Amino acid sequence: MDLGLKDRVAMVAAASKGLGYGVARALARDGARVALCSRNGPAAKAAADRLSVEAGVEVMGTACDVSDPAAIGAWRDAVLARWGHVDALLVNAGGPPAMLFKEMTDQHWRDAFELTLMSAVRLIRATLPHMPKGSAILTITSSSVREPVERLGLSTVMRAGVSGLVKTLADELAGDGIRVNNLMPGRFDTDRVAALDRNTAEKTGVTFEQARAQSIARIPLGRLGTIDEFGAAAAFLLSPAASYITGVSLRLDGGMMRSI
Ligand code: NAP
Repeated sequence: MDLGLKDRVAMVAAASKGLGYGVARALARDGARVALCSRNGPAAKAAADRLSVEAGVEVMGTACDVSDPAAIGAWRDAVLARWGHVDALLVNAGGPPAMLFKEMTDQHWRDAFELTLMSAVRLIRATLPHMPKGSAILTITSSSVREPVERLGLSTVMRAGVSGLVKTLADELAGDGIRVNNLMPGRFDTDRVAALDRNTAEKTGVTFEQARAQSIARIPLGRLGTIDEFGAAAAFLLSPAASYITGVSLRLDGGMMRSI
């Protein structure tokens, strides 16, 4: 299926590895010009160079911490200087720390607000004036928005705000021909999920392998998702092929969420 992504300009946040990288790779393989970022500039550039060679398209890698408003502006300006507009935006960031409510200070809440909710607000605000009709925005939340996960309260609370933002903007931007959707990942094979499994192992006194086996046991398809599976769904939602889909929060979890 031709997704219609050839030569479209995509900004993919937090994408030197993990889910963001999977999205950047899917978009590049379908012919899009991709601008990816992460806090570590050399890692972002290396990821971009790798994708450019692999997919035969232009890919730029930039250092940008999405919790820093000035850095978002500078990244957006660099993309506009090279390509002039943005057709697709993936809103993404690293995840907040895993901890219990009683361990969270005001600073933890403030940091999570900046990292998870305000980064989404600012990435969209910075990009929107440069998105032509037919553009698309995609956010990433988590299965925890529907079914809270132990020790992920910071993530769950802030991502619920992102879910509200997506529905609000889907209404508000439909008249401008801009679609806004969200993906809710369950458990994908990334460094973040490995860190969460290590955290569970430490807190519950089991091995990493046991913690991982317990989490996989809850997934009907019997395994973690791959970043390419995540990228395929994201590329579709960001593409003209999804032209009648907006305001959707799609679960991507191998059947893990039990709610109907
Ligand atoms: P990951 O494997 O740890 O990768 C995170 C990526 O984001 C890296 O490229 C990292 O590079 C970059 N990054 C982190 N903080 C950043 C920041 N402040 N500004 C810019 N770039 C930043 O994580 P992941 O598994 O792909 O997860 C991505 C997001 O989805 C996270 O918010 C995570 O909580 C959420 N999520 C993931 C899953 C899953 O199954 N993987 C499930 C639910 C939710 P640098 O270190 O160089 O910045």
